[in-house]
Amino acid sequence: MAGADAALVVAAAPRRMRNADAAWPYRQDSDFHYLTGFPEPDAVLALLPGRGRGEVVLFCRERDPGRERLEGPRAGPEGAVARFGVDDAFPVEDIDDILPGMLEGRARLYCHFGRENEFDARLLRWMRRLRAARGGGVVPREFVALGHLLHELRLYKSPAELALMRSAAKIAAAAQLAAVRVAHPGAGEYEVEATLLQVMRAHAAVPSYPPTVAAGRNACVMHYTENRGKLRRGDLLLIDAGAEIECYASDVTRTWPVGGAFSREQRALYGIVAEAQQAAIDEVRAGRAFTAAHAAATRVIVAGLCALKLLPGTPRTALQSRDYLRFFPHKTGHWIGLDVHDVGDYRVDDEPRVLEPGMVVTVEPGIYVPADDTRVPAKWRGLGVRIEDDVAVGTQGHEVLSASLPSRIDDVQAVCGA
Ligand code: CA
Repeated sequence: MAGADAALVVAAAPRRMRNADAAWPYRQDSDFHYLTGFPEPDAVLALLPGRGRGEVVLFCRERDPGRERLEGPRAGPEGAVARFGVDDAFPVEDIDDILPGMLEGRARLYCHFGRENEFDARLLRWMRRLRAARGGGVVPREFVALGHLLHELRLYKSPAELALMRSAAKIAAAAQLAAVRVAHPGAGEYEVEATLLQVMRAHAAVPSYPPTVAAGRNACVMHYTENRGKLRRGDLLLIDAGAEIECYASDVTRTWPVGGAFSREQRALYGIVAEAQQAAIDEVRAGRAFTAAHAAATRVIVAGLCALKLLPGTPRTALQSRDYLRFFPHKTGHWIGLDVHDVGDYRVDDEPRVLEPGMVVTVEPGIYVPADDTRVPAKWRGLGVRIEDDVAVGTQGHEVLSASLPSRIDDVQAVCGA
């Protein structure tokens, strides 16, 4: 698709330092992982269509017993060819001498220019050297954004990718089920988080984002991750926690009644969100617009909030005025895959994208009544409910990847009360 006169260059994610000599846990760049499966930093992939001695070339760290003793094993160029299926591999130390020559004669270079300053500078250096060395020869004059080309591929998940996403969702479900069993009145949000992390790590997964464990009014903070509060009997507990396995993410939310029983108001809101989520999931199928799920969820939530008199007027007027954004301020879902908020265009030719088999979306409607909203009776304030599942579009219908975590109101109360 890039063409025989193009080359494609992608770098591994750099190691990032937390402070002094302590690094953040290493996470490979999603595009680099998608193309190579190679797990190490300090590596560069070059795809060179038509190259006689191999089109897929990797530059990576050489074996080094001393460094490996400190930092762990390296594949080395030999291991990269033997185990990761690249055609040819070289020490990354030699990239300045080798790669520019490989780019000679190619008109376009597909890359992520503008993402990592350091790598951008190297790309520019290679281009300058190439131009200086070869008067008149063809050198890439154009950097083409690789994102669109690659991200269209990533949007459609293969059966192998779907299997990993199924695992990631199952682990998130198991983690949350275990976590809610320690979510007793008096427990800390951090204790619930500890169980989430324990179960994920026990399955060799890591969190795909910092978990939200939000009791009471903390549930109205969309990206609450402090997890420092205490659970009180009668609170709602919103847990938004995804697991990541082999770089594939899940993203799952449930809202539980601390102590085991929803109050009348909590039950009313939960019922609306559950119905909205079901209506939205019904729209996740091949041939439907990506936006149909959000439209369906919004209709149910607006009708429900009007019936409870939390919104004035009729569903029709509330939809028109967009007054409901006070309680439902976000969209109903996003692509999910290697990234939690995965790549892929949501609109094509200025129309909402039509869903196709292999696409995976989250479906996550919610209602959050701000604690300081004096326009509604006090009994509603500070309640936040969200239900979120990961749903894969199939050739027929869909598959809810996180279906092993209960969401029906009676099941949720039963789990919490047990
Ligand atoms: Ca989420």
